[in-house]
Amino acid sequence: MKILVVGAGIVGLNIAYTLNERGYYVEVIDRADRIGSGISGRSAGVLHLIQHPLNSIKAILARLGIDRYRELSEKLGFEIYNVDLNIVGYNILDKLYLESIAYILRRNGFKPRLENIYGSVNPPLSNKIRYTLKISGYGIVDPINTLYKYVEYLSRNGVEIRLSMEEYDPNNYEYIVVAAGPYTYRLANGIDAYPPNHRYALGVMLNVECQVDAIYTLPPNPISRYTKGGAAIPKGDYTLLGPGFRWVDTPDAEPIEEDINNVYKKFVRLFHEPPEISSTLYGVRPINYP
Ligand SMILES: Cc1cc2nc3c(=O)[nH]c(=O)nc-3n(C[C@H](O)[C@H](O)[C@H](O)COP(=O)(O)OP(=O)(O)OC[C@H]3O[C@@H](n4cnc5c(N)ncnc54)[C@H](O)[C@@H]3O)c2cc1C
Repeated sequence: MKILVVGAGIVGLNIAYTLNERGYYVEVIDRADRIGSGISGRSAGVLHLIQHPLNSIKAILARLGIDRYRELSEKLGFEIYNVDLNIVGYNILDKLYLESIAYILRRNGFKPRLENIYGSVNPPLSNKIRYTLKISGYGIVDPINTLYKYVEYLSRNGVEIRLSMEEYDPNNYEYIVVAAGPYTYRLANGIDAYPPNHRYALGVMLNVECQVDAIYTLPPNPISRYTKGGAAIPKGDYTLLGPGFRWVDTPDAEPIEEDINNVYKKFVRLFHEPPEISSTLYGVRPINYP
């Protein structure tokens, strides 16, 4: 059986990997002339252990997915960097809020530790931060390097990956799997419309010139059900701030200056001294909402 996967992002490559593992003949095709042109190349690379709501199917799948990712990292040879996640608190109200999150996390199988860090925070983190709710076992990957490791492995195992649509003939395949990121619904159905119950969100992240040793995140917004928080994420000798999301109409939307300012304003309060922005990164993702 010949199967074609359209889209060489992390989803398409994973599908190709699984089909190949199960003995099917697979090819992968992408319209871009390079790997990582879609959102998989712009992700923050955090393996989310926690998803909201904590007992949702999405959250359970995220936890299971991490075990699978750890297995794959050994087989394919990409690195997972282990760090702590710290949800920070500035005052006694935040402390109460963090305690309530800790209670829910414990009931869902996590082992969070609430630490009082009064007076012991070193730069670059703000010395206004008084508490952190620490959860160990968070993984971070380099998204582009991970995609390349998939490509190398698949190519070694007989999967052809073509970065051009020129020789594309759908009649050559018995099955076509569409894994085109935010374009999937449109491509699979041949229509120019939103998927039902989905919207597009433009995510902006900033590379800033400073180093942190763990993921630091603001307390999740208890009012917003649909947008996720964001974080300061360690990336070697720089830090990634964000993402900050805004609803947009199409998957081709680009950020405006206000998006960048909003992300900076939101996350800069984590730091002792405002860090310099060295570059920006963005991507549009489909987000489903009930
Ligand atoms: C700012 C931001 C930060 C994120 N951070 C994280 C994170 O820390 N952790 C996490 O788990 N997730 C994160 N995500 C989400 C994650 O990046 C995506 O869920 C994931 O990358 C989606 O992968 P994909 O393969 O579906 O899409 P893509 O990577 O977009 O792949 C789709 C591929 O299809 C190709 N394609 C599109 N249209 C066509 C067509 N017509 N014909 C042929 N090929 C086509 C594209 O060129 C592309 O290569 C983040 C997303 C954003 C926007």
